[in-house]
Amino acid sequence: MEIRMVDLATQYANIKEEIDNKIQEVIHSTIFINGPVVKEFATNLANFLDVKHVIPCGNGTDALQIALMALDLKPGDEVITTPFTFVATIETIALLQLKPVFVDVDYKTFNVDVNQIKDKITSRTRAILPVHLFGLCCDMEPLQQIAQDHNLKIIEDAAQAIGANYTNTNGNTSMAGTMGDFGTFSFFPSKNLGCYGDGGAIVTNNSELAEKAQIIAKHGSKVKYYHQIVGVNSRLDAIQAAVLDVKLKYLKSYNEHRIEAADYYDKCLNIETITTPYRPKNRNHIFHQYTLKVDGDRDAIKDYIKSLGIPSMVYYPVCLHLQPAYLYLGYKEGDFPIAEKLSKEVLSLPMHSELNQLQQDTITGAIKSFSASYA
Ligand SMILES: *Cc1c(COP(=O)(O)O)cnc(C)c1O
Repeated sequence: MEIRMVDLATQYANIKEEIDNKIQEVIHSTIFINGPVVKEFATNLANFLDVKHVIPCGNGTDALQIALMALDLKPGDEVITTPFTFVATIETIALLQLKPVFVDVDYKTFNVDVNQIKDKITSRTRAILPVHLFGLCCDMEPLQQIAQDHNLKIIEDAAQAIGANYTNTNGNTSMAGTMGDFGTFSFFPSKNLGCYGDGGAIVTNNSELAEKAQIIAKHGSKVKYYHQIVGVNSRLDAIQAAVLDVKLKYLKSYNEHRIEAADYYDKCLNIETITTPYRPKNRNHIFHQYTLKVDGDRDAIKDYIKSLGIPSMVYYPVCLHLQPAYLYLGYKEGDFPIAEKLSKEVLSLPMHSELNQLQQDTITGAIKSFSASYA
């Protein structure tokens, strides 16, 4: 029995006929860019997320860049975000000559610590870019309040959280990506909704911002060959949209399967030196990653289970403020103690829509035998 971090082969085998037929449809239509399949997927995704506008694009990094461009930020404007995320989150901020301003994360949720945001707001702050890391929403209600009080825009990086939700104190529930001015998604193959190549989307409930983002994604033009603003070329191709439209129908059950697998991991991993993922009551964790905190030698566990053929990953081994590319921002070790501590403690286990209990018994058995013999 082979255990993988993500098992796209088995997932494909289960929906092969539908996927193959839909791809064939696109090939026979010869409409490979834009066209009805892309439109249909955008409409279906808008319905799934309960959001007004979906602008498909080339990938999740482009989605962030286009959203930032659509907000008309000026060089030197500050964007508050987290140092504990994938680099794409801040790369686009830096590329547009904006300034990423980091706020440390919450030890339990791995997400930006909302209580520390206010202290980082200056006269140049224009936006907050929360990341719903590993499939769990940030604490959005207080974050939205801060944004409102200080007239800041919100871009949610929801690349890892498609289908996650958040419930306000008034009982209203919203999907990840639909609570800010913009939400951005990635359809990288291993994401909870992944295509067979690159893909992404920008979503918003604001019609003006939607139009602006759409124009930017299409070379800055509304009418072909007439260019109002400097744009980019970022498209979701029709074959990827075909794959996504089929898989979108299964997304809810894929996420439910991940949650069940997480429940089973929780049950099996009752080990003193290991903390299983925290799940606040007002949001559903959709487990893009199932990430443990290891009190002790994390790398020794990783190596031990690897020797038994069990993969695991460290997301993320180096915080962004300590990456060579971003040292120019002037941060140093010790500036974000929680994020730095997490980078030494986290360990993500195999997690996907096809994971079964037999595999999980093997994985958790290996971790338990390590703990028993080396602790
Ligand atoms: C995957 C990911 C992205 C980038 O998506 P791509 O489609 O690979 O460009 C951005 N932010 C986060 C948090 C991600 O996990």
